[in-house]
Order: sequence, then structure tokens, then C-alpha cells
Amino acid sequence: MSKKMVVLGEIREGSLRNVSFEAIAAAKSAAQGGEVVGVLVGQSVNALGSDLIQYGADRVVTVEHANLAQYTSDGYAQALLAVIQDVNPDGIIFGHTALGKDLAPRLAAKLNSGLVSDVTRIEGAAGNLIFTRPIYSGKAFEKKIITDGLSFVTIRPNNIVPLVKDESRTGDISSLKMEIKDLRSIIKEVVSKASMGVDLSEAKVIVAGGRGVKSKEGFAPLQELAKILGGAVGASRGACDADYCDYSLQIGQTGKVVTPDLYIACGISGAIQHLAGMSNSKVIVAINKDSEANIFNVADYGIVGDLFEVVPMLTEEFRKLLN
Ligand code: FAD
Repeated sequence: MSKKMVVLGEIREGSLRNVSFEAIAAAKSAAQGGEVVGVLVGQSVNALGSDLIQYGADRVVTVEHANLAQYTSDGYAQALLAVIQDVNPDGIIFGHTALGKDLAPRLAAKLNSGLVSDVTRIEGAAGNLIFTRPIYSGKAFEKKIITDGLSFVTIRPNNIVPLVKDESRTGDISSLKMEIKDLRSIIKEVVSKASMGVDLSEAKVIVAGGRGVKSKEGFAPLQELAKILGGAVGASRGACDADYCDYSLQIGQTGKVVTPDLYIACGISGAIQHLAGMSNSKVIVAINKDSEANIFNVADYGIVGDLFEVVPMLTEEFRKLLN
């Protein structure tokens, strides 16, 4: 049975995040031949509508307002509620990002609807959609259906493959005029944290350091390797707790959940809480002095050795290969 699905396009620094295109691919399979409507919320966002269409949306609805220039839960919730009323979809897909995790449950609660979060797969079945999501820190997967009302879904970034961009695709981009008012919070200024490059949750390659990195300076060779591979630097909680790096880099149960194509774990023992955040990476390489370290149990390739010798050697070899 075909469905009408809505996808919220998530904008960061003027561009759509990749997870938005992944969400469109998920919506396409969920729609089973029905309509996929992209939604853009912000101040001057109309121009990004064609991107959503070229990645598979059938049409786009935008809500533009000065009060939506920065994300606020209240402002976006007002905009999305108006879109839902206008479009009357069967389901809405968000990225399982900070924004999606804030907004989707808020809307689901307001509309008394079901929410399935951190979804890695969506299948259509007669009548219902089946959502697959990891449980027990990624040790098992469960399948869920929402039996009544609207389905709110957040999808895990870097997991569902986006459709190939088709620049010849066209579709209607319409704007929904509305007042955004009574905001309980107003963002006056956004101060960006100095980051170590590529966004962790969308990185295709992650070089992560643990307590074995031993100091702040110990992250330098990891940054070099990440730079050569066009990747991001991540960390275990052990490294964050020891103040070798910022908590924004933490991967794991209480940090970010990542699914890159390549995860290189350096000086990380492989505690269950760390594995919860990275064990679904496509290829895992572990570098550890201790041949008994648990990380080797999930690694596709293991290197027993001192990371301060191995990582610079890898960087050198990749430099030769990639130049
Ligand atoms: P360690 O366990 O100390 O391991 C360091 C490793 O480095 C060792 O295996 C050692 O052999 C190796 N090593 C040392 N020197 C070198 C060298 N020169 N070259 C190569 N290898 C070397 N942890 C997370 O990571 N993410 C989370 O989100 C998270 N959430 C948690 C939530 C809860 C409720 C709890 C209780 C814990 C959580 N933890 C989390 C902590 C987790 O249990 C571990 O303590 C932590 O992951 C250990 O970090 P580590 O592997 O860097 O350090």
C-alpha cells in the first residue's frame, strides 16, 4: 500500500547534511510508490529545495521565517506541525542527529503518535512499515511497527545509502506562509567550537584514539592520518576523561554512534560501551600493544604494536598511495 512520506532536510552552515539524502532514500522505500515530500525550515532555504528533489523527493515544501534562522525546538515544532497539517503524511523521517533527537519525540508526543528512533532499515509490508533498530548496545536488532497514526522515525546517519543524484529531476517547490511566534528560547549567537575537521557522525573514515594515546599531543599522529584519508578524529571515553581531547569526540554508548566505511581504533581496549558506538562500522582496524585486547574481537584487521610507530607508518604509506 503506497504511503505519503515527509523528510525534514537538515541544514548546516548553508548546506544540506548527507543524512537528509539518506532519509529520502529511506522514505522512497517506505512510500512504496507513494509521494516523498521534502521539507526545509529556515530563513532563506528555498534554493536548497532542488537538491532534495535531485536526490529523490517528489516535491518540497519550505517554511521561511526570520525566527527560524537558527534552530529552536519551539520554532521548528511550529513549522513542522503546520507542514504536517498541510501535507497530511503517513510518516515523517528525520536524521538521528541532535536536531532529529530533539524534534521528532516532541512532535510525536504532541500528535500522540508513535516514534521509532535510530532506525537502520525500513521495509514496507502489507499495511504497516517495519522498522529495524539496534538494541542492547548494538548486540541485537529489533523490528517494530507503528500500528496507529503517524509514524515518526529517526534514521541512523551513514547507514542507508542515498539515491544517485539526478540533476535532470524536477519537482514543485512551494512555500508555506505562517507566523512563528511565542518562542520560549531565542538564539542570540552561535559560537562554533574549533573542530578537528570533518563531522564525526558523517565521516566515511574515522581515526579514533584511546587512553593509549597518552596525552593531548599524542593525538597529533592520528590527526595526520585522518587528514590524509579525508576523515575525522574520534576518541574513547578513556581519552576524553583523561582530558586528552574534547568530549565532543567521544564515540560509544554515551557518545556518538558512528558507522563509517573505515574505523581505525588506536590504543583503545574495546570496552562494551565503546563498541556500542562503532561496531557497525564497515571495516574496523585495531592497533593495540596488547594482543589480548577486546577490540581485536570486533576488528577485521588487527595490528599488534605501538601506535606511535604504526600510525606514522600507515600515514606514510597512504601518502605515497594517494599522492
Ligand atoms: P583503556 O581501557 O585504558 O585502554 C587503553 C588501551 O590502549 C589498552 O588496551 C592498551 O593496551 C592500549 N595501549 C596503551 N599504550 C598503547 C600504545 N602505545 N600503542 C597501542 N596501544 C596502546 N567508553 C567509551 O569509549 N565510550 C562511551 O560512550 C562510554 N560510555 C560509558 C558509559 C558507562 C555507563 C560506563 C560505565 C562506561 C562508559 N565508557 C565509555 C567507558 C568504558 O567502559 C571504558 O572505560 C573506556 O572505553 C576505556 O577507554 P580506552 O579503551 O581508551 O582505555
